[in-house]
This record gives sequence, structure tokens and C-alpha cells, in this order.
Amino acid sequence: MNPLQMIDGLPDYGRIKAADVLPALTAELARCRSQITKLLDQPEASFTNLVQPFETLQHRLARVFAPVAHLNSVTNSTELREAYNACLPLLAEYQAEVGQNLQLYKAYEKIQATEAEQLSDDQRKVLSFALRDFRLAGVHLNDHDKARYTQLMQELSTLQARFEENVLDATRAWSYHVTDSHELLGLPDHLIERARSAAVERQLDGWVFLLDYPNYQGVLTHADSQALRRAYYTAWSTRASDQSPESSQYDNSNIMSDILNKRLQLALLLGFKNYAELSLATKMAPSTQHVLKFLEELARNYLPGAKKEFDELQQYAGSPLNAWDVAYYSEKLSSERFQVSEERLRPWFPLPKVLGGLFEVARRLYGLRISEEPGISTWNSDVRYYSVKTALNTDVGGFYADFYSRENKRGGAWMGEITNRIQLSTHQALPIANLVCNFTPPAPNMPALLRHSDVVTLFHEFGHTLHHLMTQVDYPSLAGINGVPWDAVELPSQLMEEWAWQPSVLPLLSGHVETGDPLPTEELDNLLRSRTFQSGLAAVRQLEFALFDFKLHAEFDPGAIGEVARVLSEVRALVSVIPAPKFNRFAHSFSHIFAGGYAAGYYSYKWAEVLAADAFSAFEQSDIFDQPTAQKFLNEILSRGGSCDQMQAFIAFRGREPDIGSLLRKDGFAA
Ligand SMILES: [Zn+2]
Repeated sequence: MNPLQMIDGLPDYGRIKAADVLPALTAELARCRSQITKLLDQPEASFTNLVQPFETLQHRLARVFAPVAHLNSVTNSTELREAYNACLPLLAEYQAEVGQNLQLYKAYEKIQATEAEQLSDDQRKVLSFALRDFRLAGVHLNDHDKARYTQLMQELSTLQARFEENVLDATRAWSYHVTDSHELLGLPDHLIERARSAAVERQLDGWVFLLDYPNYQGVLTHADSQALRRAYYTAWSTRASDQSPESSQYDNSNIMSDILNKRLQLALLLGFKNYAELSLATKMAPSTQHVLKFLEELARNYLPGAKKEFDELQQYAGSPLNAWDVAYYSEKLSSERFQVSEERLRPWFPLPKVLGGLFEVARRLYGLRISEEPGISTWNSDVRYYSVKTALNTDVGGFYADFYSRENKRGGAWMGEITNRIQLSTHQALPIANLVCNFTPPAPNMPALLRHSDVVTLFHEFGHTLHHLMTQVDYPSLAGINGVPWDAVELPSQLMEEWAWQPSVLPLLSGHVETGDPLPTEELDNLLRSRTFQSGLAAVRQLEFALFDFKLHAEFDPGAIGEVARVLSEVRALVSVIPAPKFNRFAHSFSHIFAGGYAAGYYSYKWAEVLAADAFSAFEQSDIFDQPTAQKFLNEILSRGGSCDQMQAFIAFRGREPDIGSLLRKDGFAA
């Protein structure tokens, strides 16, 4: 049997082949369609005989495709990419067809009108959530417009995948060959070793540097050679653009305009003024003006501090700084001031020790027991699988952890779902997640050694993982992170980061790789003091991304030329502190908004940061492992998924609406 169609338990990754993908999806889509027809043929539709089975069939479909999407991200090959791409239009077609199924919509409406009184809160929310999505899918459109909607969705899905492929291919197309060892000065040994191995693989002398994120970040921060830093900065910030001679065949310029234009057409079709408005229809933030005011207010609060930080850095360097010098001198200034160097602290953070500490935090907060399960079939021998149980030994779910950077693996870190929780008479499953990072792989016979920022990333993704796993919602459309607005979904993850910064937690996370000693008190104090270093510069950078994304989707004019550049320069004039060189084309690889779900939603990071800082202040007021506070967070937010109104849930936990003061204080900016 096709391994992708075996949906009970964990996927058998060892057996999945690219050739299985299309047959599995085609069969499952056919099954869904025939089931829907049967459901709608019933004489009297009810929550039990229609909504529940529909939840089940959507759950099954997601489960069949989840391993495919996941493998495409972590083991991208030509065959798999082709198979995956062949599925995208089929899925988009099915989703549009379901979303625009007038008979199904009418049945849901009728169930809401006749049964609402007898249903539970969660069941009512399942209905209202589905009805909202039907309307957003254009169920009310005439046949001509419905066809147009379907076409736009398919085109967008293809364009967004192309955008991402171009970024990946452009990244792969670039490498930097070093033959003079002087060019390596300042670089950490592990980067030099990787570059040496890459050269050996290619049968070249010297060192070959590839353009993955650890390399880029390592070079910009540590290379004494300004030429090397500039080369890396240029390559990274011109990926998939007209400015990149190595990768001009991957130029995303036209794809970006096409994506923006089609998003606008879609919004207009559904009766919105622009795509930003459509994006907010499913978010916690109430209006486009509200979001812009929120971002501008934060910018006003951070900008003077950020300018001061940059002036101070230039003074320290003794000359005006280029974009490719900033990370380098910042690292020097910070290590001088705090005696902290991210690289120097690595030996204190071996991955196994960090994981032990992380799991201990999860035990103290929520009573969880997390243990590695041997012998699980995975996609790479470095991948681990962990089961999660409650203090009473009840199964909660599990997650795969794929920690290291590899060729053919998408950059960044993320949590993804393999299956969501479902507890209905027709089908039961516990949630399974993927926790993916891109840490520098370990040297032979050593554990991987993390930077503290990697530890924070791990806590962040683990926060998402908990959100997915700890859900108590029985209906998959609202369980875990499903149905949670984008601007609230980063609350549990950013909140979790806070524990990676606590003086009482760091000794649990650190143990020197040779001696086992925890991070010495002095190092710990310096690390904590360094947290707010350049927090203003970091904030305005995020605000620049957020404002660029939001204004672009609120203002895009398909008749004008150079809209992306226009919006970018307007936003930079407003919030940018570090001058960007003319050739910089960061937008061309800004996958979050062009290929991913953050379109007109990048502001969500800041929005959720405000929520998270304010939520953590509740723990700080008592004790960071305070049980009543942890239980309240679990009951009101973490376990509720999309089944509640997010603002009401926050108020139930915190006793009031979120306040930006907690975040400003955390960043060292008095409110
Ligand atoms: Zn996140």
C-alpha cells in the first residue's frame, strides 16, 4: 500500500518515495469529494451527521499531505519538488471547490440557525469559523467570479512556490572560493572546517564558502576581511534579484509584482479595498489603521534609542559604517562591553544539555514528560522523535526534531504539523509536530554546540510545538494552532523564549562540553546584561519589515511601475537607521511575505511580542514557575487553540488588555 495513505500512527518516512505523492493525493481528494456528495445527500443535515464527518475528512486530507510538504522543505530533491508542485494546483482547486460549495455553506448556515442552542461553545465556534471561511472563499460569488477566484488562487499558489524555489536556487548557485588563508582571519573554526570540506568535495584547493544562513551570519559577524563580508552581504541581499549576476535567471522581480497584483484582485473580488484589509479579516488586530498606528507608535518609541545605538557604534568603529560592517563591529563592541561572545559560549551549550533543560522547564511549568523514542522511521539519521506525556502518564502526542543545517533543506526554524488532534466518534488522533532548526551541525565525535541565540530559537519553536501538542480542542479545524489568528500565534512561542533568559534556568541549560560545569556566574550576568544591547536597532529593523509588508499590501497600485521599490524607500525614510546600499534587494528573498503566510501579517511578530512580554510579566510578578499562573495560561490560551476569541482569552489570563509598556521595559526602553 502507498505509505502516504497509511494515516494511522506516524508516517513511515523510510518508505515514502516521490512517486507515491501524486497517487496518494489524487486518491484522497477523490475520497473527499465522494464523501462530501454522500454527506449532502442526507435528508436532514445536523452537526453530528455533517459537520463532524466533514471535520474528519479534512483532517485525513491534511494528514496525507503533511509529510509531503514537510519532506519538500527538509529534503528538497528535483523529483520531490516536481511531485509536490504537481499537487499544489490540485489542492488549491479542491479547497476552492469546498470553500465555494453553496450547498455545504447553506447546510452549515441551517445547522447554525437550528442547532446553535444545543451545541457546545467549541461546536458553535467550529460553525462560525467555517461560515466565515466560506464567505472568504467567495461562496456568495456568481459563477463567473467563482471561476476567477479559483484561477487566482491557483496562480498565486504556483507563483509563491516559484518565488521560494528561486530563492533556494539562487542561494545554491553562489559560492565563494578562498585560496588565501588571510581571508579567513576572525572566522570561527567550525565555519572554516565546513568550507574546507566543501572544497574537498568539489576537488578544489583552499576553502569553499556556501551561502547558507550559518555561513552568512558567521562571515558578517566575524570575518576580519571587509572584502569577504561585503561579498557575502552582496550575495545574500541580492539573491533572486536583478542585481545578482550569479543568479539573474532566478530574478523574482516580475513574480513579486504578479503576486501583489493577484492578491489585490482577489481582495477586490471579495469586496475588500486591498489585500491588507482581507488579511485582517482573520486576525486579532481590528483594522488597517490600527495596525499602522500600532507600528508607528512603536517606531516613535524605538527610533531615538536606535539612532543613539548606531551613532555609538560608528564612534566605536571610528568611521561611518556600511551595512556589511554593522554586525562585525556590533559583535566587537558587545564582546568588549559584556565580555560575551556568542561563539565563545558555544561549549557551554551542548545540544543534549540544552534539550534536558528545556524538557525540565516543560515539566516544571506543565508537568510534561518528554522522552526520545528510538527506532522511529525518519528522513535523516540525525532526526529524533520525542513522545510527550502528562505527569499522570497520559499520552499528549509527539514531535520530530530536525536540528541541523543541510544542503537541500529550507533555511530558518519552524514548527509544522504532521497531524492535528481530533477526538470525534468517527476518528481519533493525537497531535504530532515537526520542530525544525538550522543549527550548525556537530563536528565528528562531538555534540552540536549552540549559541545562546540558537537556544532561544529552540525555545521559540518549542513554544509553537506546545501550542500544537497541548490543545484540548477535539475539532481539528480549531485545535492546536489551527484557527488561531496569525497575530496571536506567536504568543506561546515568544513567551517560551523568556525562560531561556532566566538566571534560575540558565544553569539547567548549560554544561561545559568538557567539564560539565554550568555557565559561570560572571558569564551569566554578562549574557543577561547583553540582552538589551542594540534592542532599538533590532526593533526598528523588524518595524521596517512589518511596515514594508503592510503598506505594500495596503497601497499596491498595479498601474504604477516600481511599487516595491517605492514603498521600501518610503518605509526606510520613516524607520531605517542603518543606510541600505542601492543594490540591496532584500525583498526579493523575503519569503515570509511573498511565499509564506505572513503577507500583510508580518506586523504579527511585534503584535505578539507585545502580548508575550505582557503575559510573561504575570509570571514575573509571582514566580516564573508559578503553578496557578502556568495553569491559567494553559487553560485560557495554550490549550484553547482557535476555539476562543483571542483578545477575550488574553484578558481572561491577564485581567486586562495587552499593554506595550511591558515590551518597552523588557527592551530597556522605559515606557
Ligand atoms: Zn514563531
